[in-house]
Amino acid sequence: MSDDNSTPRTFSAPKGTYDLLPPDSATFLAVREAVAGPLRAAGYGYVETPGFEQVELFSRGVGESTDIVTKEMYTLTTKGGDQLALRPEGTASVLRAALQANLHRQGNLPVKLWYSGSYYRYERPQAGRYRHFSQVGAEALGVEDPALDAELIILAADAYRSLGLREVKLVLNSLGDAKCRPGYRAALQEFLRGLDLDEQTRERIEINPLRVLDDKRESVRGQLAGAPMIPDHLCDDCRAYHASVRALLTEAGVPFVDDPRLVRGLDYYTRTTFEFVHDGLGAQSGVGGGGRYDGLSEMIGGPALPSVGWALGVDRIVLALRAEGVTTEVPAATDVYAVPLGEAARSALFPLVTELRRAGVAADFAYGGKGVKSAMKSANRSGARIALVAGDRDLADGVLQLKDLSSGEQWPVQLDQVPTEVRKLLG
Ligand code: AMP
Repeated sequence: MSDDNSTPRTFSAPKGTYDLLPPDSATFLAVREAVAGPLRAAGYGYVETPGFEQVELFSRGVGESTDIVTKEMYTLTTKGGDQLALRPEGTASVLRAALQANLHRQGNLPVKLWYSGSYYRYERPQAGRYRHFSQVGAEALGVEDPALDAELIILAADAYRSLGLREVKLVLNSLGDAKCRPGYRAALQEFLRGLDLDEQTRERIEINPLRVLDDKRESVRGQLAGAPMIPDHLCDDCRAYHASVRALLTEAGVPFVDDPRLVRGLDYYTRTTFEFVHDGLGAQSGVGGGGRYDGLSEMIGGPALPSVGWALGVDRIVLALRAEGVTTEVPAATDVYAVPLGEAARSALFPLVTELRRAGVAADFAYGGKGVKSAMKSANRSGARIALVAGDRDLADGVLQLKDLSSGEQWPVQLDQVPTEVRKLLG
């Protein structure tokens, strides 16, 4: 080894990643909570799965021919020889977990689950596209009911709205099912085979022709004008199902735009497919997406389990908030800030801070023996409403100075009366 570990060096976050730090990190928490709160209230239970899974779960579940699986997975071989991948998305893992625990056999369908976590894709980093990103997701397993698709879409649309976002657009499509999709697929393949396309795209026609519709290149897009579109090929059941989802969304006042080309980058979708996009984000405009995946369970060795779900991108929602100039109300973390002036005051105030915390008051302390000026600056910066300032002379009298930081008023309070007085002031 030529590494010289004794030479100091600095480190940065790896390419395509960034650190979430205060104060911005508070917005991330607020976004997660704005999505998660309504899910909990709608009967979704929290699920957490490992950050890595067997590679095969994703190659089978997400799709052998998708970019996610062919190009973007972080894979590794363990010392024991297992082939693992950092999770690139949540649905396959959540379904795997539910099947493994037999949640679907407990007689209470749909199994409704929500999750929040980090996902990893080896993509070319750019604004809004990272190699490590954060999603909040929801899945409803085991029921085929247009109202369930509608419930999830409404919950997502309401979450964006509750955050103050006004420019999120819902794009909707149906991808058909095992009955009508094969016919459409064949018609599309026939059309695509007649186009002037490069080798790689020609290969895609044979493996996953729907994804050619998603090609962003002008040279391809120009040739797709007359392509057969899925809405014209839906069977009666799929057509009725989709009409019902659309009617429920309209009734709920959730606007949407039909896009017959919306296919999404994952193979498992059937019927309802949707994406939430924000025009203020440039190329990476998707702030969330999902759909129905009635065949996924069988693809990963489970029983037939029609299901629907979505994942919202937390990083991009934060960017969308910025783009719209929306600031989330984040209350100050600290209510009370203790400023000891001298050793005796430290000994008296530190236990008092602990006592206040145990009584449910958000309190902090000027550590490191700061002078009064710098300590008061920290108190103001913390957003606290009250400072507790104690010097040796006060303590000799059994009091400290309570300062109301908004009015600047200050008065002495008996030490044992501090918790009561603080609670009275904080209301
Ligand atoms: P997907 O799992 O690809 O359907 O993505 C769902 C949502 O996750 C997208 O709408 C984005 O908001 C977000 N997302 C996906 N990939 C990335 C990425 N590389 N960086 C940041 N956000 C992402």
